[in-house]
Amino acid sequence: MNITQQGASPRSPAHISRCVVCGGAGGEPVWDVAKSPIHPFRPPEAAGSQAGFGCLHIVRCDSCGHLYNAAFDPLGADDLYGAFVLTNVPVSPSMVKAVEGTAESILRHAKPRPVVLEVGGGGGALSMLLAETASEVHLVEPSRALSPDRFAGTKVTFHQSMFPTTTLTGKVFDVIVCRQVLEHIPDPNPFLKSLRAQISDDGIAYIELPSAEYIYVNRSVVDFHYPHVHFYRQPHLEALFARAGFAVVETIDVKNGHDTAFVLRPVAASDVRPAIIKDDPNFVADMAKRRAYGRERLTGITGSIGLYGANAYSQSLFGVYPDFAAYSAMFDDTPMYVGHQVYGPAIDLPIGPPSVEKLLPLGAVIVTAYLHDLVIARKVRALGFKGPIYTVRTDSLAGNGEQPPSLFA
Ligand SMILES: [Zn+2]
Repeated sequence: MNITQQGASPRSPAHISRCVVCGGAGGEPVWDVAKSPIHPFRPPEAAGSQAGFGCLHIVRCDSCGHLYNAAFDPLGADDLYGAFVLTNVPVSPSMVKAVEGTAESILRHAKPRPVVLEVGGGGGALSMLLAETASEVHLVEPSRALSPDRFAGTKVTFHQSMFPTTTLTGKVFDVIVCRQVLEHIPDPNPFLKSLRAQISDDGIAYIELPSAEYIYVNRSVVDFHYPHVHFYRQPHLEALFARAGFAVVETIDVKNGHDTAFVLRPVAASDVRPAIIKDDPNFVADMAKRRAYGRERLTGITGSIGLYGANAYSQSLFGVYPDFAAYSAMFDDTPMYVGHQVYGPAIDLPIGPPSVEKLLPLGAVIVTAYLHDLVIARKVRALGFKGPIYTVRTDSLAGNGEQPPSLFA
């Protein structure tokens, strides 16, 4: 893959024409972004390139109410996930603690010394933690940023591949972990069936993904970004799970309800009719208001703006306000991101750690890593920044106590 060539060919605006939950065609337009960055960042040699963008045409299925990006290009998936830089690597004590909590939640349901499969494990932090208890761990992850030597001396076997992979054909697992993957997959039905096919009769699956309920309740703007194809509500997921042959054993709120984890056990597949969810008539109008308010807020800031957190949410922001370019700094604490640049249709910005020299001249800081906004706001204040700090969070925590106010409210 050459990262600078993606999206160079013109593509039709609709790529997913049928709802994966109910099979229905047609949907109400919810959220459109003409040029959304496909990746959270890219190398400096790609600067200025008009490739590397995709279209968001989020629709709500006319039949069942499922939300998805009908403009997602399924053919680009290999490009999207073979990226050379790992994202979501734990960089703070609270992030490491979260991974430990996940391992505990999984092992609580698993038999002793289980054989574990993790699908899409990013940097492998969870796999390595699970390996301390498991008899074997297999990590299937397409990123070319990972190499087997990262796992030397551990019980983790690394398979650089999309799932399913031929290197594990016929093998069954006591525990299958799949975090933050399902929402990226254009057609979840065969994927879930493949997971089901590799679980032992008394095994469990742990599937974690963002909650569409969170987006609805909080009118969250930045949770619509290119890599996520589907925004699942819980009753729809339960229908997909049942169809693949999984029953829900436990549902766990993750990151204060931003994400949901499902502990599943294998059962006989059953063709459950998905729930029809046609509530919340004001959702589309409310989202448009947030978008307009965010623009007003951005253009009202005096001086240049620093962003904090090179991730899917900064990616989303660059797509939503493509012509706004008053940003002069992109901060992130992940050492591996240094040397890369975040980008939008009109901007490329190098990523680097925060510094007093870069922070103090700024007119405002916007925390794009909003799930960590409190910690980041404190850090920015501790470095001596006295100007306004906003977060891209839109839930009820925004503006409470030390938590920065929302850019969109
Ligand atoms: Zn549907």
